[in-house]
Amino acid sequence: MLIRILGAAAGGGYPQWNCHCNGCETVRDGAATPLTQSSIAVQSEEDGSWFLINASPDIRQQIEAIRGEGCFNSHSGNRSLPFAGILLTDAEIDHTTGLILLRESTAPLNIYSTTTVKQALTSGYGILSTLQNYSGVNWAPITPGEIIQLTDELEVEAFALSTKAPKYIQSTEVELWGIGLTIRDTTTNLIIIKYSYPSINKPVKIWSLHIASFLTQLKG
Ligand SMILES: [Zn+2]
Repeated sequence: MLIRILGAAAGGGYPQWNCHCNGCETVRDGAATPLTQSSIAVQSEEDGSWFLINASPDIRQQIEAIRGEGCFNSHSGNRSLPFAGILLTDAEIDHTTGLILLRESTAPLNIYSTTTVKQALTSGYGILSTLQNYSGVNWAPITPGEIIQLTDELEVEAFALSTKAPKYIQSTEVELWGIGLTIRDTTTNLIIIKYSYPSINKPVKIWSLHIASFLTQLKG
């Protein structure tokens, strides 16, 4: 498994357009490196396919950056998406807005998310419903605790992380909104764990529990 960090900044990027903190001003002064918004890509080395974890508003720039490093060569000559699948860890605007920028794909986008996130992106912030009339979308469910086989080599399992709904959802219902992902390479046993901190509080506890169970698995 190959892992590329596409971006590491919080929502808004670094610098953020309306921010004048010391950090953002340092970038504007040329003394620090700008960062695009957080996202990673994972490649199954066996069959070469790439998977995108969250689609940031900076996706266009991020795709071009890794294309420049020699990724996606097998896809030259067609206009389909260079990702075999896109996995969403939540329905936040800074993790999903990039999807709309992928609308020119000539093949439907293969999107994985929880049903709550699908619902939010269909009727709340209707990116998925909009995309149906452009690239089209093939959606597949992510259910915490259930393993999804992405390729012969890569599998992914979600764990519950947060009940914090995106701001555009006006609901008082307590539901699972944020998940973390454990991505496992079954040939090398390399494991990565992808998660975002939507808020500091409950997630810390859930995250600690997950680490504990992960270490137990390793020992076993
Ligand atoms: Zn700032």
